[in-house]
Amino acid sequence: MKTVSIINLKGGVAKTLTTVSMAYALSQQYNARVLVVDNDKQGNCSKTFGVHSYDRMSIADLMLDRDADLGEVIQHTKYDRIDVIPANMTLLTANMQVMMDSSRPQQTRLRTALRKVADLYDYCLIDCSPSVGLLLTNALAAANEIIIPMQAQPFSVVGMSQLTSSIANVQRKINPGLRVKGILLTMTEHTNVSDHYCGQVRSTYGNKIHVFTTEIPRNVKVQESQANAEPTILYDPKSNSAKAYIEFAKEVSGYGREEQVFERDEDALNR
Ligand code: ADP
Ligand code: MG
Repeated sequence: MKTVSIINLKGGVAKTLTTVSMAYALSQQYNARVLVVDNDKQGNCSKTFGVHSYDRMSIADLMLDRDADLGEVIQHTKYDRIDVIPANMTLLTANMQVMMDSSRPQQTRLRTALRKVADLYDYCLIDCSPSVGLLLTNALAAANEIIIPMQAQPFSVVGMSQLTSSIANVQRKINPGLRVKGILLTMTEHTNVSDHYCGQVRSTYGNKIHVFTTEIPRNVKVQESQANAEPTILYDPKSNSAKAYIEFAKEVSGYGREEQVFERDEDALNR
């Protein structure tokens, strides 16, 4: 199981949309078995997959109870090959309780829990909330890779130095194998302003952090799909944001590359 945390210390940059879309693309287009971990008390990610966790066990139980039964915490969704560990407001109090409970390591509780199901999934995607603290540390400790969605607009880099220092800290102390897979530019538009900020992100970070080739355009179908509580790729697979997320899932996972090579070879033959 490859575990990927989707993180940015800014809210509203499409972390949740990226998690949902990646999960949907990886599982439905490329047949991967995906476990989605909602690590944000708002629970938007869980709800998009139709999992309402008020009366169910959630990630909070994993953080608090060493012996929590993962079979009860993990919820199957109506989509093949997508399971969810949901979140809700109880994560707030769980966070405080974990901080006060030093009876076992506080920073690696999610990692310890996820290891138990590592054989059941190809990917685990962790949707994070935009804050520094124990929940972020747990997400970083549990991950192999990090994806940073970033909106191309003024102040998009706010919080980046805090995020990179949190990552470095976790790499040093808890998770030396952790690596930043890259920055994903989101909500891009066909305007000079958007182009300008995309260029700025690529020139500022390009030689330190990989910036993915695929960019996610802003598209009204995203809001429509959210109103419908459906992944955008399901709601309108032909919308440009859905197509971009399918392409992004391919770029990030390497799935479907054989076809690309094949197409290129055919092109060469036709020339
Ligand atoms: P985060 O999890 O980082 O807070 P969300 O995924 O919840 O961000 O997205 C924040 C808002 O931006 C949502 O209202 C969502 O509808 C909107 N949004 C994100 N990506 C797009 C897009 N490509 N096109 C249109 N709206 C988008
Ligand atoms: Mg979110």
